[in-house]
Amino acid sequence: MTDCIFCKIANREVNSRIVFENERVVAFHDLFPAAPTHVLIVPRQHYSTLNDVPADQAALLGEMVATATQLAKDNGFAEDGYRVVMNCNPDGGQSVYHIHLHLLAGRKLTWPPG
Ligand code: 5GP
Ligand code: ZN
Repeated sequence: MTDCIFCKIANREVNSRIVFENERVVAFHDLFPAAPTHVLIVPRQHYSTLNDVPADQAALLGEMVATATQLAKDNGFAEDGYRVVMNCNPDGGQSVYHIHLHLLAGRKLTWPPG
């Protein structure tokens, strides 16, 4: 996608604070953090919403979760806890249409979300 902000971040055409990357996924700090730690994990492959991910790409979704878990461990908040969430379409609160997993940590998070 040529006009996608997260594609541009993944390709380093737009600056962001990248904390991890490999051939398939990139993790970077959210520009407007909702918690002391707020990292977004995205696939390099552009999928607009969770609905668009083919069933045979389930491993990619698993790698996104595994990346979040590893970051939680590496940054010392695995024991206190954290939240991973993906928003889908307007009712889910999605605002950027390149799928991303939010990793939120560093404060007591409330439930249910708004
Ligand atoms: P959504 O609302 O789609 O679940 O989450 C999109 C997230 O992307 C939001 O938390 C928002 O703060 C973040 N965001 C939007 N634009 C940018 C950007 O240009 N750079 C970074 N690092 N985060 C962004
Ligand atoms: Zn994209």
